[in-house]
Amino acid sequence: MFVHQELVLNAELSVTSRLLYVVLQARVDDGSSLGEVAPLVGLENAEQVRPFLDELVEAGVVETRPHLGRAPQIVLHQTPLTQEERTDRCVPCGRCGECSCDHTKGLCRICDEIERVEKAAQQDLDRWMRQRDAGATYAIGRSSARLHAGTAQA
Ligand SMILES: [Zn+2]
Ligand SMILES: [Zn+2]
Repeated sequence: MFVHQELVLNAELSVTSRLLYVVLQARVDDGSSLGEVAPLVGLENAEQVRPFLDELVEAGVVETRPHLGRAPQIVLHQTPLTQEERTDRCVPCGRCGECSCDHTKGLCRICDEIERVEKAAQQDLDRWMRQRDAGATYAIGRSSARLHAGTAQA
């Protein structure tokens, strides 16, 4: 587990939000809900955790914005996001309209992969067509030459 030093030592953040960050990081793989996290930071319920979570969002280390086609989730960042990286909204993929925030903004991982495969397939097709166009006469010529040779030997 890696805890961003500046964040933990940031006196501007409340003690609870700093603890919340540490607890969230420790529990992130378990998929804990805020309700489960609450008692670990000395709070009673998810409702009470919210303002502290907002503090972490404000600090750029947590994202809680909803993403297209995904269940609401809390995304933790090990280092604070820069101002440009912090967007209020989910950035949809230009191809399929699903969330693309985890990948290149505007192109999701799946579509990126599809485009890569499509491009490779197109290149293969182009190469094959070039070879076919260039080699068609040659191939016929060679087989007919062999045929001639065979005829001559017989
Ligand atoms: Zn998104
Ligand atoms: Zn896509």
